Amino acid sequence: MKKTVRVGGVTLGGGHIAVQSMTTEKTSDVEKSVAQILRLERAGCEIVRVAVLDEIDARAIFAIKEQIHIPVVADIHFSARLAVVAAEAGADKLRVNPGNMSMEDIARVADCVKAHRISVRVGANSGSIERSCFQKYGRSARALVESTLAYAAAFERLGVEDLVLAAKASDVPTTVDAYTMLASRCSYPLHIGVTEAGAGRSGVVKSSVGIGALLLKGIGDTIRVSLSADPVEEVYAAHEILRACGLERDYVEVVSCPTCGRCEYDCIALAERVNERVRSVKKRLKVAVMGCVVNGPGEAQDCDLGIAGGKDYCMIFEGEERTRVKSEEAACVFLSRLDKLLEQAEK
Ligand code: SF4
Repeated sequence: MKKTVRVGGVTLGGGHIAVQSMTTEKTSDVEKSVAQILRLERAGCEIVRVAVLDEIDARAIFAIKEQIHIPVVADIHFSARLAVVAAEAGADKLRVNPGNMSMEDIARVADCVKAHRISVRVGANSGSIERSCFQKYGRSARALVESTLAYAAAFERLGVEDLVLAAKASDVPTTVDAYTMLASRCSYPLHIGVTEAGAGRSGVVKSSVGIGALLLKGIGDTIRVSLSADPVEEVYAAHEILRACGLERDYVEVVSCPTCGRCEYDCIALAERVNERVRSVKKRLKVAVMGCVVNGPGEAQDCDLGIAGGKDYCMIFEGEERTRVKSEEAACVFLSRLDKLLEQAEK
């Protein structure tokens, strides 16, 4: 049976897939960290991780937590002492890499999480495979899994039960293989993601393929899209992945065509504006932005609001109502209809 683990007010392992991200500000800069976390919250982030490099970072967690609304994970390397300070400052979960800690330090972290009744994420990524696993299996999915399970076993022996495991690689096939193996060998909640996925389009695609492949197999309890970008983009991408996998239903689905030589109005610009406007709306609605009459009316009629382009004129569909508008006015009229629809839905 799957274990559940609490991270502040969020439960991992109970069926809900929590979206998480990590701040890029210095944790010691409380003002900037809080501002970034509040932006992440508005984008839909449910758990946030902060880097703890020293005691000033660790202590800052207390002031940060007073001004935000989601649980904080302290990301710590090399030091059990910082883990203790972060837990005392109110961290809801620790993320440690036992591969870079002594057994004595691991025991200290274990005592700390038990005393504060918080959870801990352990695991390996391609760059931190446990030495004997690396010697035996090289830099492989098997090595990641054996390392992660060895780290988990070390904490289990010390009486820690609230564990979240991760075994990330920076390439998709290894990540998918590792988590598939890990899921078959443990019942702990899994933090999934493709580590260091990269920047922009390639990072989003790598994360989507890796995380999506796992979610579709029912693997994963919390996701982090790792991008070399503003972390808010990670959160947007994570929600898009959940939606594409059918795991998030309260959102505005936008159907839009790629356009072709038949399109006679700026359908792509309108689709972009619509996407931007509905991005954070948590209502189950469907909107279509279509280029022409070939597939336009068919798609648009099935939606709460739709538009199909034509020669000189566009047709707007809303329920049984049809409105013919000049192509140059179409975007403006459509967006104001969209605003009204969103307003009604929010009531
Ligand atoms: S709906 Fe019309 S404009 Fe859009 S891709 Fe199809 S044929 Fe082209």
